[in-house]
Amino acid sequence: MAAGSGGPARSGASPRFDLPETDAFTRTYWDAAADGRLLLRRCGACGRAHHYPREFCPHCWSEAVTWERASGRATLYTWSVVHRNDLPPFGSRTPYVAAVVDLAEGPRMMTEVVECGEEDLRVGMALEVAFRVEETVAVPVFRPRGPS
Ligand SMILES: [Zn+2]
Repeated sequence: MAAGSGGPARSGASPRFDLPETDAFTRTYWDAAADGRLLLRRCGACGRAHHYPREFCPHCWSEAVTWERASGRATLYTWSVVHRNDLPPFGSRTPYVAAVVDLAEGPRMMTEVVECGEEDLRVGMALEVAFRVEETVAVPVFRPRGPS
């Protein structure tokens, strides 16, 4: 494999691919994240929760969907240790653990597992949400949940 050309250097003009676009709808979600709260959307018609936030229920298409605070508890469904990612700033962050977790409320969520060695990752392990501040936003990630 040839060495990547970019490297970890950052300039003010370099694009980033890890920060979310926020709009009027998702602002509620990101404002809550900045306060350390993970939000879900719960459907008033079928009762199911979903993530990422949508303006309608992906299960029954109802628009009777409201915000709800998630417990922040999840279990590890699957993961992949990423050793190379050419999109800034991921290249300076490798290796990292890209993961899919099952939230206690049901929805499955794409995220990252932190504070856990690669060899300690287990399917079904208990996780809890943490927030990593990235410039202007707090991005939800998950770490092992200790006994409580
Ligand atoms: Zn529904």
